[in-house]
Formats: sequence, C-alpha cells, structure tokens
Amino acid sequence: MILAVTMNPSVDISYHLHEFKLDDVNRVENARKTAGGKGLNVARVLAQMNEEVLATGVLGGTIGEYIVQELKKSNIPNDFLKIDKESRNCIAILHEGRQTEILESGPTLTKEEGEDFLGKFNDLLSNVSFVTISGSLPKGLAADFYQQMLTMSKKKGVPVLLDTSGEPLRKALLHTEKPLAIKPNTEELSQLLGMEVDGRISSLKHALDHKLFKGIKWIVVSMGKYGAFVRHGADDYRITIPKIDVVNPVGSGDATVAGLAVALNRNQPVENVLKTAMTTGMLNTMEAGTGSINMTKFDQYFDLVIVERID
Ligand code: ADP
Repeated sequence: MILAVTMNPSVDISYHLHEFKLDDVNRVENARKTAGGKGLNVARVLAQMNEEVLATGVLGGTIGEYIVQELKKSNIPNDFLKIDKESRNCIAILHEGRQTEILESGPTLTKEEGEDFLGKFNDLLSNVSFVTISGSLPKGLAADFYQQMLTMSKKKGVPVLLDTSGEPLRKALLHTEKPLAIKPNTEELSQLLGMEVDGRISSLKHALDHKLFKGIKWIVVSMGKYGAFVRHGADDYRITIPKIDVVNPVGSGDATVAGLAVALNRNQPVENVLKTAMTTGMLNTMEAGTGSINMTKFDQYFDLVIVERID
C-alpha cells in the first residue's frame, strides 16, 4: 500500500475563462472543485491505477470536512490528523491558454500539532510499502519537518518519493536519510540552486551535478510537453512524449509522481518506471479534472513514450 501525504491539503477550484479581465467582473459557468493539494491529486491517481492507497496529512474546519467527503465519494481511504482550524482553498484560473493561480497559505500549525502528526505518520508507516510526500509545509512547522519523516521512514525501511520545493526540499536533500526519488520541474530546480536551469541537456546535467543531489537514486525533472530529463544513479535519460491535446494540465506533476510511485513500488525496470510516470502525467492533461486519469488510454500512450539513455 502507498501512503500519500499532503500536509497542507485544499479544496482546489478551477475556473475556465475565455478571457481573464483584470479589474473587472469575470463570470464563470464551469467551476470545478476537487479535494486537492498535491498529495491528494497523487492519491486520486494512485486509486485510478488500482493501487492500494491511504491518504494522510493534516486538515480541519468545513473545508477539511469537504475534503474528507470528496475522498469518500472517490473511495479513497484516508486517515488525517484533524485540527481545529480551517483548511484552505486554492484557485486556478485557466484563460487564453494560460494559468493564473491564487493559493491561500492555509492554517498555521502548532508544534504540538506537528508532533501529533508525526506520531500518526509513524503508526501508519507500519502498514505501507511506499510513501509519497507532496507539496508545501503548513505555516508553523519547521523546514526540517520532512527530514523527520524521512528518518522515521528509513527506520521502518519504507522508501519515500518527495515532491516539494524550496527550503524543505533543500533540507531533505542535505539530510543523511535521503528520499529515494524527487520530481522537480526546471523552475523548482532553478529556485533550489539559485541559478537559471533550462531544458537544454547541458544545463540539466550541470544542475544535477550539484552536491545537493548526491545520493538521490531517482531525479525526475519533468518538463511539461517536453517530457522529462532523468538521472537514475549514474545514468541520464531524455524522455520524449507525443504531442497531445491538453484539456487541463493542472496536477500533471502529481499524476507523474503517482505513476513513478506505482512503478517503483512494483519494482518495475527503469524504462517502465519512466514510461509509466510520463504516461500518467500526459493522461492527466487530457482530463478536465485535476489529478485525474483515464486508465483505458494508458497502454496506447505508454507505447508512444521514448526513453533514450544519453551520455
Ligand atoms: P509540474 O506540474 O510538476 O510542473 P509538468 O508540467 O512538468 O509538472 O508535467 C508533468 C508531466 O505531465 C510531464 O513530464 C508530461 O509527461 C506531462 N505533461 C504536462 N504538460 C504536458 C503537455 N502540455 N503535453 C503533454 N504532456 C504534458
């Protein structure tokens, strides 16, 4: 079973607008609301892939209740730490082929609430074979919070795929107990390293040579429609994907994380791992729902992904 962690879940609202008018009224006909936060997108895709999944994290208030109801509707088992504060809304506005996001920061947790969650996490670790940790930390928790989760996971022999950014990612990479895998995009890499990383192979190789990445077995740099660049141990791969008609790209990175987690948890060979991750990312862009894939198209798109080893 895969444990999908979302420390700061949300109700994700997406608005499709023909034109986004600033300083004016924008009326929306189709508002989509989903239980969100990156880890919940991961959990939903895991469930759609028929993987046994348990969603966890911290939530509260009426928004928290809505999230739990939505998970129940989708038959996603969940066990969250409930707090006495309101979880957040996150809004994505899709307009003119662009995406404008308005993200609430969410509740501030106390040290005790952080510790309560770590206790719960430690218990849940006993029954799972793989962990995904996605997204930002709630306010109030120290940037080394994910480090503590990595230490606990290591003690129980459970591998972790960590998909976060900024300081929590830097701290986790510097930690002695490394995540098995990370999935930054080029923007997150640039931010982490304080230098411009673009999609050129030379730029990506140079970035991943940084000492921060030492000891991370799988580094999957996702690049939207350009596929991904991957470092697995000493081997580098370029992954090319077909051109597809994108309906909603929100959550593609999370769907990629879910694909990676499933394939790694099932001990698949390298090429399959990478093809699975790209396929779930692509399938997510083809659906209107955020963090949602149609598995009936899986084989068709899996076969179109090209994995090349590069020197
Ligand atoms: P993130 O959401 O983390 O920035 P990406 O945008 O890189 O992640 O998307 C993750 C994966 O989803 C890509 O590697 C690719 O497989 C797929 N994907 C995303 N956008 C597109 C697109 N426009 N066309 C085809 N595939 C896409």
